Amino acid sequence: MAVDLQATAAVRRRMQRTARKDNDFERTVRSLLHAQGLRYRIHYPLPGLKRTTCDIAFPRLKVAVFLDGCFWHGCAIHPPSVKKNTDFWLKKIEGNRARDTRATAHLFEIGWTVLRFWEHEAVDVIVGAISATVTETRFPLSRAP
Ligand SMILES: [Zn+2]
Repeated sequence: MAVDLQATAAVRRRMQRTARKDNDFERTVRSLLHAQGLRYRIHYPLPGLKRTTCDIAFPRLKVAVFLDGCFWHGCAIHPPSVKKNTDFWLKKIEGNRARDTRATAHLFEIGWTVLRFWEHEAVDVIVGAISATVTETRFPLSRAP
């Protein structure tokens, strides 16, 4: 198969940029959770699934949090703008989405609470939702009737 070297370099730059953006997103959410006194595991291997992790986990409470980058996870609001190797990227993103769906279904089956957020969502809303879920899971009696 012929490889378009220029495209490859451009794709690599795009991947690095996107990965950095994802990481900034994850880091921001994590540091805000930490500031709220929450303690968690990161890149936690999902029980019963090979090679699949969630971004943030509260293992004792069985709460898994996924922070999905718009590009990698195929957000509908921000479709990937790839000009070259389009099939490759669309297949890759499709594969990621299928894995996301499987992971969510599996975690529900084994009694975990699953929270999924998009990179484009407001960070304070995300942190509030995670914090509320953790509190409700930890202290079920404090849940409003
Ligand atoms: Zn998006």
